[in-house]
Amino acid sequence: MHVRRKLVVGNWKMNGSLAQLGELHAIADAARQAGGVDVAVCPPFTLIAPAAARSGRVVIGGQDCHWAASGAHTGAVAAAMLKEAGARLVIVGHSESRAERAEDDSAVRGKAVAALAEGLQAIVCVGESEAQRRSGDELSVVAGQLRGSLPDDWKDGELVVAYEPIWAIGTGNVATPADVTRMHAAIREALAGRFGDRGGRIRILYGGSVKADNAAEIFACPEVDGALVGGASLTAGQFVPIIEAAARS
Ligand code: PEP
Repeated sequence: MHVRRKLVVGNWKMNGSLAQLGELHAIADAARQAGGVDVAVCPPFTLIAPAAARSGRVVIGGQDCHWAASGAHTGAVAAAMLKEAGARLVIVGHSESRAERAEDDSAVRGKAVAALAEGLQAIVCVGESEAQRRSGDELSVVAGQLRGSLPDDWKDGELVVAYEPIWAIGTGNVATPADVTRMHAAIREALAGRFGDRGGRIRILYGGSVKADNAAEIFACPEVDGALVGGASLTAGQFVPIIEAAARS
């Protein structure tokens, strides 16, 4: 069995300001005290450099990157640019990016490959819609996303999967421990099937309305190696208890 450190990642989405980077001090203190937990915050692109300058043990990440290294891609940011700004990881394939920018699995995979080529950790997001869950297709949808979105080549520690049911993101409808356990077991099986023993080293995060009051229950589920947290990562007051719950789990 592989021992995997818990990873708690905050996704600030299109929120935040220079003033809000003040939250990082308390988050960094909590990360230092929670010795066995890796903590990351992904602010908007414009805040990566100033965040990285004051983040302590907190890893700073981007929320997206392009699959190309440079070129005519107005509005996009390359993995090397994130790295130069101080990012050490990047989220790719978030359901909001998949939906708003019509990203398919092969685009997500290209982004993950580009991130890994720059030495960034890649967090590849997967997750079913409410309609897909209602029709009982959640396992096959996520299996297909994993097949299409994950790169073949990666080094240990570089690749992370985030299971984020779309119906749970920003809604307050957190998945039940039974739902989480069933899906994470299926993801682990898919990773082992494709990558063999190495698949056991990939961390699988849960994301979708994780808050201080449900974090411990989620972290207690088998094969949950941490959380991707949106709304509750915007303030240290809400994010720190989630880091502490990961440390206790
Ligand atoms: C997310 O944006 O990845 C997310 C999980 O958001 P929230 O925690 O707000 O549901």
